[in-house]
Amino acid sequence: GCPGRLLELKGNIRVLCRLRPGTPSSLVSSEPGPGGTVTTCYRGHQRRFRLDWVFPPDASQEEVFRELEPTVLSCLRGYSVCIFTYGQTGTGKTYSMEGPPEDPGIAPRALQSLFREMRPGGRHCVTLSMVEIYNEAVRDLLAPGPPQRLVVRQGPAGQGGLQVAGLTYWDVPNLETLNQMLSLGRSNRATAATAMNQHSSRSHALVTLTLRAASPTRGSGTAGSLAPAGTLHLVDLAGSERAWKAGAACRARGDPEDAQRLREARTINRSLLALGGVMAALRARRPHVPFRDSQLTRLLQPALGSGATVVLLLQISTRPEDLGETVCSLKFAERVG
Ligand code: ADP
Ligand code: MG
Repeated sequence: GCPGRLLELKGNIRVLCRLRPGTPSSLVSSEPGPGGTVTTCYRGHQRRFRLDWVFPPDASQEEVFRELEPTVLSCLRGYSVCIFTYGQTGTGKTYSMEGPPEDPGIAPRALQSLFREMRPGGRHCVTLSMVEIYNEAVRDLLAPGPPQRLVVRQGPAGQGGLQVAGLTYWDVPNLETLNQMLSLGRSNRATAATAMNQHSSRSHALVTLTLRAASPTRGSGTAGSLAPAGTLHLVDLAGSERAWKAGAACRARGDPEDAQRLREARTINRSLLALGGVMAALRARRPHVPFRDSQLTRLLQPALGSGATVVLLLQISTRPEDLGETVCSLKFAERVG
């Protein structure tokens, strides 16, 4: 079969949902697997959300990646793929995307899988870039020296898309180098304490791989020629919790950094809203897609456009006190999927 064609028929945006383990569930019910559902009851109102896939709380990192692997590998045939982890702080976005060293998540598994598929000794070329968006400022996490602030601007006329002026691209010859670069980028990522999670990151982190792999077709004149470049974007989004919650918690503690935290939360909300707006417009095939509404969507414009595959991995808490946020996340998924 032709996976690209299947995805086209299905629509290019897939929404997967992973339930966070470890707490008694406040959900009414959930049906795992393909076409799974999550049912909530919030303020006396029961709602059933259908998703493309639901991973139960005991789903392993391997099970999650198994569903994503064919999509990831389509990059080697020139496709553009964008995988997001979305959700409230503490629901497992970073766990799913990065994972602990002993139980790696999507990013390390994806890279391993890609390098395995690229034929050893065959011609291939992989470049890596890594940025963070914090308070609408785009920072290069792989620049030599301290992280640099970057300017996103329109690319040359006729070529379409946007350019990030001065962004560092590294050629990565092998998996070891790639992993070293990624840990460097991660350690450069700015973090700030919030009332809800000391270690939560209030920034979006984007890892971009561009791949040109040797064409798998043999025996014709095109053997060994370079396939069109595919791209893989792995995006660990900042926490989706609403601004008032972070702000109120700061005020309750008399936090002197109140204003700063509130501003962070508001810019995050705005950019996630922009992402939702872009995805909803793409899904409805509206002529105007509001890419320009945030740095996140401006940067990802080439990755989200026609022909691209977008996967949103929605991370859900099952704690009773998070129910309001859980419903918000599911509504976001409903709007874009
Ligand atoms: P987020 O990035 O959304 O703020 P984290 O990925 O940091 O959330 O997860 C919060 C905590 O929950 C971490 O200690 C993480 O190890 C744990 N956690 C999240 N999901 C899982 C899971 N599926 N299995 C085990 N631990 C998890
Ligand atoms: Mg995180």
